[in-house]
This record gives sequence, C-alpha cells and structure tokens, in this order.
Amino acid sequence: MSDRHSARHSDAIIIGAGPCGLFAAFQLGVHGLRSQTVDALDRVGGQCIELYPDKPIYDIPACPAIGAAELVEKLTIQAACFSPVYHMGQQATSLERTSDGEWVVTTDRGLVLQAPVVVVAAGGGSFTPKTPPNLGRLAEFEGGAVRYAVPNLSAHAGERIVIAGGGDSAVDWAIALSPVATEVVLVHQREELRAQRHSASRLQELVEEGRVRRLTGRVVDLHGAAPSLEAVTVHGKDGRTVVPADRLLVFFGFIMREGPLASFGFELSEGLIPVDTERFETSLPGVFAIGDIATYPGKLKLILSGFHEAALMAAAAARRCRPGESPSTEYSTSSPLFRERTQSELGGRSP
Ligand code: FAD
Repeated sequence: MSDRHSARHSDAIIIGAGPCGLFAAFQLGVHGLRSQTVDALDRVGGQCIELYPDKPIYDIPACPAIGAAELVEKLTIQAACFSPVYHMGQQATSLERTSDGEWVVTTDRGLVLQAPVVVVAAGGGSFTPKTPPNLGRLAEFEGGAVRYAVPNLSAHAGERIVIAGGGDSAVDWAIALSPVATEVVLVHQREELRAQRHSASRLQELVEEGRVRRLTGRVVDLHGAAPSLEAVTVHGKDGRTVVPADRLLVFFGFIMREGPLASFGFELSEGLIPVDTERFETSLPGVFAIGDIATYPGKLKLILSGFHEAALMAAAAARRCRPGESPSTEYSTSSPLFRERTQSELGGRSP
C-alpha cells in the first residue's frame, strides 16, 4: 500500500527517461514545472542507449548526423537547466488517484511520488529481446558471451563474432563491427536480408571484400566452458558447420510488453495509449502520454514526433497546474529565463 504521507511531491512525474521523457523534463521546466522522472533502467536514454548508442541518427533537425548516445547526452544537459530529479533503476508499478485529484506513482522499490501531472513516456513499455528458439546451453552464456545489444563497440575489439539475424540491427551491427572485430559472421535463415537496401548493399560489399562472412542457416548449439564461448554450430541446408566464436550477438527483434502500464487504468489500444493531438492527454485527466507509447491517427514513431508531443503536453500540463493562467509562447532567444538557466548549465551535467 502506498504511503502517501512520505510521497515526494513535484508538479509532474515522468515515467520513462528515453529521448522523449528527457525532452519532456526540459519542456515542463520551460513552463516553470518541476519534474521527477522514474525509469526501470539504470541509465537515461531508453532505446537510444540500450539498443543503438553508437549509431548515427540522421533525422534530428539541424543535426545532419548525431550519435544516439550524443543526442541523449545533449538532451540531458538541456534538461539540466531546470534541475529535474531522476529515480533510476525503478519500475513504475502503480498509478492511483488521490481524493484531491492528484496522482500517486509507486515503484517496485517502494518509492512513492505524487503530482498533479503524470507523463507516460514509456516507449514500447518493457522491451525484452526475442531469444533464439531451441538453442542448447543458451542460459549458460546469456548476459556474457551471448548478448542482445551492443552497449560499447570498442568492447568487441579483436573478438570473433557471430551475429544471428537478418534485419536492420543485425546488418548494421555486422557493418559497424567489421573494422573492430577479428572476424564477423552473419547467420540468417534466408539468403535475402530484411534490412534497408543501402545497408544490405554495404554488407554485400564487405562480404565481397572478405571482411564479413555470411552463412545461411540457424545457430543450434554453443560450445565452450561457460562463461567462455569457443564456437557455435550453424545448421544450414548443407548440414552443420562449427564456427569458432568468442561472442554471439542475437538480433531477432523485441517483444514489447505492456508491463505494469496495463493496470494503470487508462485506455490501451494494442498496447499503446490513445491520446488527443492537442494536449496528448490519456483517458485519465492529468495523465499524458508522449513518444512511442502514444498513439493517434497518423502517428510516426520517431524521436522528432515525441519532441513535438512533449512541447504541446507541457503547455497543457501548465494549464492544469495553474488554471486560469494561460501559458505564454515565449521565444527562447528573448527570454531572460533561458539566458540565466543555460549559462550555468552549458558545461554539461548528467544525472
Ligand atoms: P524509449 O526510448 O523506448 O524509452 C522509454 C523508457 O521508458 C525506457 O528507458 C524504459 O526503461 C522506460 N520504461 C518503460 N516502462 C517503464 C515503467 N513502467 N517504469 C519505469 N520506466 C519505464 N528514431 C528516429 O527518430 N530516428 C532514427 O534514426 C531512429 N533509429 C532507430 C534505430 C533503431 C535500431 C531503433 C530500435 C529505433 C530507432 N528509432 C529512431 C526510434 C527511436 O529510438 C524511438 O522512437 C525513441 O527511442 C522513442 O523514445 P521514447 O522516449 O518514447 O521511448
């Protein structure tokens, strides 16, 4: 049971510290609202940090190319102007309404937060990688020699790497790891890849240059004394091949789990939260949803969309927190608030 007397109070609680949650903290600050953010992961950045930190993103306005980790760092610095509070490594497990119309969010570590506004920026909810089916001894190597993400490219220097999968992530990582690893072998069930055409073409070039090897088949066995992997067996149409390997990277996509959000009481549609496009409010008053978790006609699951949603959500949140006062649209270029806040933060500070 929540202990509301010990609840930490703020103007807004943000669930999720992905790129959209981070920008929400900034936008709420612009309207003078203090926020607290809770995230199940132990570091900010959501998908950008967990799934593709070293990849360049090409569709952030005014950034012809920016690394995903760099984007997260910049969003964090930008939000730091307004001193948001982060509670990391805590999953929001319940949402309850108080008698005076505020909201209480409780986490799996017993933290209790209270605010008039809640912003759900939970992305795909809890994203869990799909595991390879019927792969012997998987549990012995998972989290060590067998991984589902590449948090740090340089950690794979000199390794013999087998990559399982044929989609964008598998192909992009095969390309990115080829100059770093000693050997990269891409194993996919079919000859055709499911990756974007330019990535598939680049991979083909690397195969022709002998910098990436391709095998058609399925990884069916792991060899070595765990935690050290020595080889994997690939079963293809020509039988079984044993491939020496220090690392198996599996990119079979993710299962998006609603997790605790399903019991929060707002309407859900196929695991996503329907919102209006004026305020980005859910079916619960004062509870907003932005980023990948929010859905409406024409929604594009892009960081850019989440930024726009955060701006309109914050204006609506300000109207809710200060009824009767209409939030002004002030240019940051002429605002003393921005000048004052950003001067002290431009050096950068991470949570
Ligand atoms: P997320 O980044 O998913 O973050 C959600 C956060 O919420 C997570 O940290 C999660 O731990 C947390 N969370 C969830 N449930 C809870 C809970 N109950 N309690 C606490 N915390 C919770 N987009 C682009 O615009 N351009 C690109 O080039 C691009 N490239 C991509 C490449 C790849 C390989 C992938 C996978 C995605 C790409 N995207 C790209 C999509 C982009 O990453 C997402 O649109 C973006 O991350 C969504 O941000 P978000 O903040 O809504 O959610």
